[in-house]
Amino acid sequence: MESRIPLPALRNPMSRPSDPTPVTANSGRENPRADQKATLANAFTIDVEDYYHVSALASAIPRDTWGDRESRVSASTERILGMLEERSIKGTFFVLGWVANHVPQLVKRIAALGHEVACHGYSHELIYRQTPSVFAEETQRSKSLLEDLSGQSVTGYRAASFSITPRSRWALDTLIELGFEYDSSIFPVRHDRYGMPGAAREPGYVLAPSGGRIVEFPMSTASFGPLRVPVSGGGYFRLLPYWFTRHGLRQINRGGLPFTFYLHPWEIDAEQPRVDAGVVSRFRHYTNLSKCEGRLRRLLGEFHFTTMRNVLRAQGLLSI
Ligand SMILES: [Zn+2]
Repeated sequence: MESRIPLPALRNPMSRPSDPTPVTANSGRENPRADQKATLANAFTIDVEDYYHVSALASAIPRDTWGDRESRVSASTERILGMLEERSIKGTFFVLGWVANHVPQLVKRIAALGHEVACHGYSHELIYRQTPSVFAEETQRSKSLLEDLSGQSVTGYRAASFSITPRSRWALDTLIELGFEYDSSIFPVRHDRYGMPGAAREPGYVLAPSGGRIVEFPMSTASFGPLRVPVSGGGYFRLLPYWFTRHGLRQINRGGLPFTFYLHPWEIDAEQPRVDAGVVSRFRHYTNLSKCEGRLRRLLGEFHFTTMRNVLRAQGLLSI
């Protein structure tokens, strides 16, 4: 089903003089690394959750034990905030409502540093396992909580494990009804837990089942030979060699498009408690945790980043 609205007039909006966001860099600057850097500003995003919220470990960590576990999300998020401060980069933090409720000072801190606070739902339940009414209730609860804590209007959304798929497209209608302006949950790949393989790969409007539309910033993919592969971050960033991500992201920028990068605070936390969740999940969750922080520093030095809202504004898809 083709549900994208073509936006040919917006294909190259980066030169719009009225654009309030600096979306290019290095022009005229004496930066010895300038020629190595892509010039587009890309979306830097963090899904703020603890290691025990992760879908891959859900079978081994009952929900009713979350509150008894050591909260490690603040320490790891602070390290990421520090890295961003060093480079004067602002990012978008999709915060889980459960985290906001249990560690409210973390949301205040993210907002106080000038980053965008966005919504990662409340319970981290996969959307296609929820009813529309439960999804609406918990998403509204999370949005209100995040707005109260951050003092920002929270209008960006990312689903737990990218779980807006063909069978849960109805969630887009709910997001529109709740006042969200953009979504970043659609992963145009095949995966056992998520994915919408035929979806568009660049930011644009997406139609909800009722006919309304919402801005979508899909998770980024690149071409490797005949294959479309995810290069957005997360496990792909951690498990595969760094050059793989860099190659894919440069390819996207060379094509004139911004990408989105995402990571979780627990992905730089090599000391987190180990959970026995089966071979595949253990591999996905624990491989290269100790290498990830260094890779992230490198990435921040090799690409330009800003908030997702800023990138979508620069694309002409959001007005403010
Ligand atoms: Zn998540």
